[in-house]
Amino acid sequence: MNKGRLIVFSAPSGCGKGTMLAQILKNGNYHCSVSATTRQPRENEKDGVNYYFISNEEFENKIKEDAFLEYAGYCNHYYGTLLSEVDDYLEKGTDVILEIEVQGAMKVMQKRPEAVSVFVMPPSIKELRRRLKKRGTETDEVIEKRISEATGEIAQAGKYDYIIVNNVLEDAVDDFCAVMRAERLKSEFSDDIINEVLENA
Ligand code: 5GP
Repeated sequence: MNKGRLIVFSAPSGCGKGTMLAQILKNGNYHCSVSATTRQPRENEKDGVNYYFISNEEFENKIKEDAFLEYAGYCNHYYGTLLSEVDDYLEKGTDVILEIEVQGAMKVMQKRPEAVSVFVMPPSIKELRRRLKKRGTETDEVIEKRISEATGEIAQAGKYDYIIVNNVLEDAVDDFCAVMRAERLKSEFSDDIINEVLENA
């Protein structure tokens, strides 16, 4: 059986990444890795579903135990991808999506060069600010901090394999599906079909 594909999916906060991912998960068979974080849950977030919400001490213990594929500091908190959320799924042939920021994405690209990386862009910074304000989950100060992080992240978008602009949600989701469709047709992931055709020759 072919292994699943590892997908690095990054977008600055407020780019509509959550809505896009919800659509992608509805349309396809992916496991979306649940990260660990030390930030506080937002009102509608559940432990073990959106994140594993853990203390600084627990996070640092996991770093010592080598439990992370990658981790990074973002807006004064730790965020990390647990290996247990990735490798078992890939072995079973399930594609795994990592919804992570740029520093972590670069680490995954180094450690797992076969990963497919996708960066989602807002149409403009003005629109990004408007969306963050509309969400109303952060103070003005946090919003400005997130916009400054976003500008730094967008400057690194060229390091990703694919860039999708999230202007119209349906188009952005379509673009993602097109990327995955092309990726699945790559010869390096087609051993199963090559062997099957040859065996039945
Ligand atoms: P939020 O606090 O809005 O949920 O997430 C803030 C940022 O952390 C987002 O850019 C999100 O993609 C990123 N993030 C979430 N989980 C991880 C992770 O496991 N590792 C890294 N490096 N970034 C993460």
